[in-house]
Amino acid sequence: MLTLKDPSLLKNQLFINGEWVDGDSGEKITITNPADGSEICQVSSAGKNETRYAITCAKNAMQNWQSLTAKARSVILKRWYALINENLDDLANILTAEQGKPLEEAKGEILYGASYIEWFAEEAKRIYGDVIPSNNPSQRLITIKQAVGVVAAITPWNFPNAMITRKVAPALAAGCAVIVKPAEATPLSALALAVLAERAGVPKGILSIVVGVSSKEIGEELTTNNIVKKLSFTGSTNVGKLLIKQCADTVKKTSMELGGNAPFIVFEDADIEQAVQGAIASKFRNAGQTCVCANRFLVHRSIYQEFAEQFVAQTKKLVIGNGADKDVSIGPLINTTAVKNIDEMVNEATTKGAKILIGGTDKNLGECFFPPTILINVTTDMRVFKEEIFGPVAPIIAFDTEEQALELANSTEAGLASYLYTQNYSRIWRFSEGLENGIVGINEGIISTEVAPFGGIKESGNGREGSKYGIEDYIEIKYMCMGGI
Ligand code: ADP
Repeated sequence: MLTLKDPSLLKNQLFINGEWVDGDSGEKITITNPADGSEICQVSSAGKNETRYAITCAKNAMQNWQSLTAKARSVILKRWYALINENLDDLANILTAEQGKPLEEAKGEILYGASYIEWFAEEAKRIYGDVIPSNNPSQRLITIKQAVGVVAAITPWNFPNAMITRKVAPALAAGCAVIVKPAEATPLSALALAVLAERAGVPKGILSIVVGVSSKEIGEELTTNNIVKKLSFTGSTNVGKLLIKQCADTVKKTSMELGGNAPFIVFEDADIEQAVQGAIASKFRNAGQTCVCANRFLVHRSIYQEFAEQFVAQTKKLVIGNGADKDVSIGPLINTTAVKNIDEMVNEATTKGAKILIGGTDKNLGECFFPPTILINVTTDMRVFKEEIFGPVAPIIAFDTEEQALELANSTEAGLASYLYTQNYSRIWRFSEGLENGIVGINEGIISTEVAPFGGIKESGNGREGSKYGIEDYIEIKYMCMGGI
């Protein structure tokens, strides 16, 4: 039972053009709590028509929004930020119920998500153009920056709050209107954010939320409708590639935050205790279901055993259970399919010679749970090395030289986060420059903050979220050439 201080934050309808409405089909999506399979509520389902309507309304609403001063938009965003903070407990309870992460982590996500709104409320006022020294005495050259247009944002279930604010805040700051399609497993956090946006004074049509039984149907409208000028997507690489293709016909701009396969490299001169702390934080946050989670542990052979022993000792201290219960540090996975997939990966690894030091399948925990697991004797032909695990499994592989470590680290098409543990400053520079990743954590397992650019290279995507760069994904540069002077 979900008890909230403000029950009006729990919505079960679509939010389109400032109205709470049911979908035309009358279909519902059942939202369940992954910790125990219980039903939280049923949410209305949108299809093509509702999505198209939201897009048209966004276009109409954007004209006024765009012509407000940056300061006026900033004031509204700051109010939204404040309301999110005021409703922290309720938002965290909703998030834990629909997604599973421990309550403290959920609170962390809400604060982290809100920090993007605060940041972009400030950045809204700093969208500067240029005056370019002309090479023609009778001309003056200027650039201005304008909102890219109506934005579609498709977001995943692993951060049901923050993945939305990371996109909506810069888009609104720049003067865009946004249609959000949250993951069908976790729409409640998105709808609660919309309640607070409305209270904060975000005008109708500027933020709409559509969710439906068919993401494909909504996705097709969002990616083919020529009113939409920009798609920002966070999710799996396969879906990202499909959406890029769908956006091609109307030449939409895209920002893609796709899968990772983060290497976590521990050199012989690392502070092992610090590395283990980082490993726990990076690997087991959200039960391993983040795109920046350490995926492959590459450890120098001379400290391999010591690292593994300390990693196991710290992992034993983690408490697995319902995220709403006190002291739980690892919640359930999102659904039984995720558990099955991870189970298969671990089995494949052990069949090929990997050894489980701790964890492994445990049918007593509950349908959606998988315990924190550490594997040694891992080889590069195993799925746990090649694929993004998205679960609490840590495969460890030994290396002998720095060159070998770099080759292993880069031997993937993904290029999001990486982690590096060493005390040698020359190696820090050398190795960081050699890593094919958008983000490098150096003696640090938690890297994400609104003030720094988050994003990947290679098949992990394009665009950056947060930082002074984040707003650029939502603006166009217009060059104005003034002649006859
Ligand atoms: P995950 O593996 O994290 O669930 P997905 O890429 O499947 O990643 O999902 C991320 C988001 O993309 C979710 O909102 C999901 O509903 C949406 N999605 C999945 N398939 C499609 C599609 N064909 N078109 C549009 N959106 C999609």
